[in-house]
Amino acid sequence: MNKKWVYFFSEVNQAEAYVGGSWDSVRGLLGGKGANLAEMTRIGVPVPPGFIVTTEACNAFLAAGNTFPEGMWDQMMASLAEVEKASGKKFGDATNPLLVSCRSGAKFSMPGMMDTVLNIGLNDATAEGMIKLTGNERFVNDSYRRLVMMFGAVVLGIRDEAFEEVLDSYKAAKGVKLDTDLNAADLKELIARFKDVVKKEKGFDFPQNPLEQIRLATEAVFHSWNGKRAFDYRRKAGIRDDLGTAVSIVTMVFGNMGWDSGTGVAFTRDPSTGEKKMYGEYLLNAQGEDVVAGIRNTEKIVEMAKSLPEAYKQFMDITAKLELHYHNMQDVEFTIERGRLWMLQTRDGKRTAAAEVKIAVDMVGEGLITKEQAVSRVTPEQVDALLHPQFDTATMAEAEKKGLLFAKGVNASPGAASGQVYFDADTAERMAKEHKQAVIMVRPFTKPDDVHGMLAAKGILTSEGGATSHAAVVARQFGVPCIVGASSIVIDLDKRIMTANGAILHEGEWISIDGATGKVFTGELKTSIPDLEEQKELLTLLNWADEMARLQVWANADYPKDARRARSFGAKGIGLCRTEHMFFEPVRLPTVQRMILAKTHEDREAALNELLPYQRSDFAGLFNAMDGYPVIIRLIDPPLHEFMPSAEELQEKIITSRIQGFAGYVLGKGEPADVADMEKKLKAVESLHESNPMMGLRGVRLSIYMPEIVEMQVRAIFEAACDETLKGVVVKPEVMIPLTGTVKELEWIQPRLVRIAKQVLEEKGVKELHYKFGTMIEIPRAAVTAGEIASVAEFFSFGTNDLTQMTFGYSRDDAERNFLIKYVEEGILEKNPFQTLDIGGVGKLMQMAVNDGRATRPSLEVGICGEHGGDPASIEFCHLIGNNYVSCSPFRVPVARLAAAHAALKHGKGLTQDL
Ligand code: PEP
Ligand code: MG
Repeated sequence: MNKKWVYFFSEVNQAEAYVGGSWDSVRGLLGGKGANLAEMTRIGVPVPPGFIVTTEACNAFLAAGNTFPEGMWDQMMASLAEVEKASGKKFGDATNPLLVSCRSGAKFSMPGMMDTVLNIGLNDATAEGMIKLTGNERFVNDSYRRLVMMFGAVVLGIRDEAFEEVLDSYKAAKGVKLDTDLNAADLKELIARFKDVVKKEKGFDFPQNPLEQIRLATEAVFHSWNGKRAFDYRRKAGIRDDLGTAVSIVTMVFGNMGWDSGTGVAFTRDPSTGEKKMYGEYLLNAQGEDVVAGIRNTEKIVEMAKSLPEAYKQFMDITAKLELHYHNMQDVEFTIERGRLWMLQTRDGKRTAAAEVKIAVDMVGEGLITKEQAVSRVTPEQVDALLHPQFDTATMAEAEKKGLLFAKGVNASPGAASGQVYFDADTAERMAKEHKQAVIMVRPFTKPDDVHGMLAAKGILTSEGGATSHAAVVARQFGVPCIVGASSIVIDLDKRIMTANGAILHEGEWISIDGATGKVFTGELKTSIPDLEEQKELLTLLNWADEMARLQVWANADYPKDARRARSFGAKGIGLCRTEHMFFEPVRLPTVQRMILAKTHEDREAALNELLPYQRSDFAGLFNAMDGYPVIIRLIDPPLHEFMPSAEELQEKIITSRIQGFAGYVLGKGEPADVADMEKKLKAVESLHESNPMMGLRGVRLSIYMPEIVEMQVRAIFEAACDETLKGVVVKPEVMIPLTGTVKELEWIQPRLVRIAKQVLEEKGVKELHYKFGTMIEIPRAAVTAGEIASVAEFFSFGTNDLTQMTFGYSRDDAERNFLIKYVEEGILEKNPFQTLDIGGVGKLMQMAVNDGRATRPSLEVGICGEHGGDPASIEFCHLIGNNYVSCSPFRVPVARLAAAHAALKHGKGLTQDL
């Protein structure tokens, strides 16, 4: 039997059986749009009769060098006959013509990326017939001129402008503004002129044969899968190239049949905020593209309750049913033909990150989804977006006071963006990519061809179009701040300027747009970080995530203020405090340098005694901020030269000082006083010089070489811990020794440090204090000998920055500057291993370390504190190997909490699993 390439809308059961029952595969076969049209038919929603040509047919067509696969055309004809039967009309019949639309639809929706042609089946003869049938010459001519234009542009590849210029100049000559002001005779004239455009541009006539129209349109949709804009979109959205698109052939219903007809698009909830209210636009007496293109000014959907009350009620019932069926917010398209409502599309609506979170939490409250579904639905990137910088209200109010408010539009996609203005997609993309500028792309409205510029931009601003316009939908999907319909702005694309409220902005000048309020400012405004405490739904969602996760999320924080922020973001501990950062403070650095330069043990002790109170108060602040939670403090790690000025810097200073003091020198006054001092420093710096300091005297090696520093640090840690304990704070200090490579190092240093800890407890009279001594696993040898290391270390923390560096042999300071980018581009590495864990190599070492370490010490606490601790894919891996926690920078804590829950939902909560 011939392969089935075509499915009637009512054949969704057959499609399901063919793909093995999963809805995801049905969508893969029929495309998201086709599958949903079929599904709506199945649940009794009014959908005009039609059929779907599968994605398999598209792939077969493209693979065969643009030839329909065998049997496909015959199946299309058979299905067309079925549609004729269902609609009571005949395709190409002049007395009772059936018209159809030809719509693209891939598995994942790619709004506006591929092609659609409406009114197929109209030609000179069927148009005559329809006029007789409907008695509405204006409507028929309007439909016919749209077909010639769309067919010309989409199927025959003629520039839109060729038709738009004809339409605009005709309207100008007639002195009318709106398309609806054109009468039947005007539209007839436009049909003739549009046909002339086709003839002139292509050298042949607009095809009169309806079957030829349907064939060419189907081919065009298949082709559009490989068009540049679809290709660019797929890159950005991470959609595979081999999915192909399906084609839906759907009976036309007409929203332009008079004032009891109309068409619209709507979201069942507000896609910007997530609020539960119908959100959308419609137009009476119009066809779909009028609404989406933003060419005519649309009405708010709620107004339809007054203009078409019956249809509105039915519409509200159907959309409620669709939400209930899909358990998600829907984005629908509909047409009302002479009072009768038809649904043309439904899909899960694209939305902002804030809306995603609110809808997920609300739907749990409404009993539509479970908490687990809510948590799974929100992505780590969305949580990240909610914590991105915003302009704060005070900054905006001040800018307004200063007269910097340039314009106001519709707040289509939230977030703050400042950048230089460019008026077309190519320039915007070039300036962003080649010149590394922050770019705001400004257009009257956007089209799918503009997507590359929109994606390269930091923000998007249009002077026309509404909240469901192309610009708004694309921006929301990719989290780009966007304002649309800022109608006071006049853009002059020739002069490359825009004006509003008497102000002029030239291309390349700075503006700031606030996607949350729709305000556009001239200049660059300061941004601030949003407060998580105020984002109630996000807090709720993250609390649910914590209930589901097994991994805890801790934070890397060096100062009490970072610790407090981390705690407010939900961190359950500090996984890494890099103590050396405290040494760099200007009042402390001279003492640190004195300590390094000390010739005798006594001199060094004296300098360290000066540093001790500083460190003690640093740690006390941290313990206080993390009352009740563990705090891991890492002993000094970097090579000492990092605390000294560079040799070049010192040499330059010595020379300058000598030149300035030269006159005195000649007069026999000797060298300037500071030169001797600087020369001493220079000598020390030269003696500290190492060719490869990252592999030199640092970490535990430094502690063994010069134990006084870490002895002071441990004393400071325990003095602070005791003082805070005595104040009633619950302190859980964990002392971490960095860069261990052999257990012997720990055996040498750790007992000395433990002795100091015990001594301090005794001095302070503190009996009960839970503390641990442990190490970082960041040298491959430590991972490989983890069984031995765990005999001394009470906890492990993976320092995956160094572990990645040493496993690959790539310098973490240099690799990202040069070859690493090329390695990723060339596919030699799938991802940058300093961002996402290299599971095959570094990951293997980690897994071995966890297993061997726990074999020695079953209670071994294991965490990660390298940059990977905030990366969702790496977090999933840490869950799988049985880490207790991940630790990341405070801002990534909320993202990590969600990722930890996702890992548990995907793999279960059990400890280690087979990988
Ligand atoms: C690491 O190496 O992963 C780590 C956390 O330590 P640092 O980045 O300070 O070397
Ligand atoms: Mg390290």
